[in-house]
Amino acid sequence: MGWSEYEVSLKIIREFVNQYVRTRARDIDRGAYPRDIIRKLGELNFLAPTLPPEFGGAGADTLTHILVVEELARASPGVATIMEIQSSMIAENIYHNGTKRMKEEILPKVAAGEVIVAFALSEPCCGSDAAAIRTRAEKIGGEWVINGHKMWITNGHYADYYLVAARTGPREARHKAITVFLLKRSNCVETSPIEVMGVRGTGTAEVKFNNCAASDDDIVGEVNGGWKVIVDTLNVGRTAISGVAVGIARGAFEEALKWARNRELFDRKLIEFQNTQFELAEMYASIETAKTLAYYAAYLYDINSPGFLIMSHVAKLQTARIAVDVTRRAVQIEGGFGYSKESKAEMFYRDAKILEIGEGTNEVMKYVIYKLIEKGQ
Ligand SMILES: Cc1cc2nc3c(=O)[nH]c(=O)nc-3n(C[C@H](O)[C@H](O)[C@H](O)COP(=O)(O)OP(=O)(O)OC[C@H]3O[C@@H](n4cnc5c(N)ncnc54)[C@H](O)[C@@H]3O)c2cc1C
Repeated sequence: MGWSEYEVSLKIIREFVNQYVRTRARDIDRGAYPRDIIRKLGELNFLAPTLPPEFGGAGADTLTHILVVEELARASPGVATIMEIQSSMIAENIYHNGTKRMKEEILPKVAAGEVIVAFALSEPCCGSDAAAIRTRAEKIGGEWVINGHKMWITNGHYADYYLVAARTGPREARHKAITVFLLKRSNCVETSPIEVMGVRGTGTAEVKFNNCAASDDDIVGEVNGGWKVIVDTLNVGRTAISGVAVGIARGAFEEALKWARNRELFDRKLIEFQNTQFELAEMYASIETAKTLAYYAAYLYDINSPGFLIMSHVAKLQTARIAVDVTRRAVQIEGGFGYSKESKAEMFYRDAKILEIGEGTNEVMKYVIYKLIEKGQ
């Protein structure tokens, strides 16, 4: 694909952001779940852009996906987060691992934003150590019965379906005894919203499954083969989240630049001080580094390179750090204003922190990078 084709997607998404997202970013940050925006993104075929058009995608490559989440995150990291999960963690997952029925009946609705699906892996006991999850699915009289407690689930409070990871064998078997189910929400699901520091308005919730019934037809992948489904999902998600990091850093940089150009002190504009110029130059250089990492990881994924795995971890680790650093500097440039709720830099700073925790913490990234180095990858 030539760059001009990416420009076409960028133009469409920027217009969309200006029309529907930018003015709503504050409300979303205050907790309003933007279901209507997600639906509109679906109508544009940009909610799951990498899906083939017959399923409601745009048949786009992973770089296009990254560019879309980046533009969304520049205005509203909350919207970008919901989109990133619905697209790379859910739509791509069902497309690659789901049954014929899921692809025909549910996938087009996911891509259209008609239904929201949450990715329910983490539990109060286990986030980084996801192979230790305790939610159980037991086969009783021909049907599966799911019981368990999930934690920190994005979209969890509003989801219509849950992609639930459950234990289907002994705890000691760890990742070899986990199965993933696509479960329709019903009365057996109990959700309670959780107040979080950033990416607010994304419906983060505690989700309990109380004797939820599922059939074999609700299994994504194979019985006891859930770990592969989870790992594949997180590999794609990790790349997309690097795009969210770039967008957050860019959003904060733009706010700081605007502020520095307007703010007067000591009879000069703040931007005239060399320290401010150096700060902005540092931030800009970091953002370009983050872009390079995210776009390169996307490229490696699309060409099916064996180097993708380590690169996706490197990109997630470094782009998250860059986003936290750039947003912190943006707040600093804005001084007291930067610390107020009026400031968008303040929102970006809070939003950036989740990038070092969600979908694998920085420490987990380093753990995997070192394992892959040992394996010679
Ligand atoms: C806003 C938000 C949204 C989220 N959305 C989802 C979602 O949609 N679906 C979902 O399933 N989960 C979701 N999560 C959960 C997220 O993936 C976990 O919080 C994350 O994986 C960390 O797990 P934990 O919170 O249990 O921390 P722990 O695993 O308990 O980690 C605590 C600390 O220990 C460190 N640590 C862990 N292992 C090691 C080690 N081996 N060596 C050294 N240090 C280590 C960690 O890096 C961390 O600093 C979300 C979390 C948040 C906050």
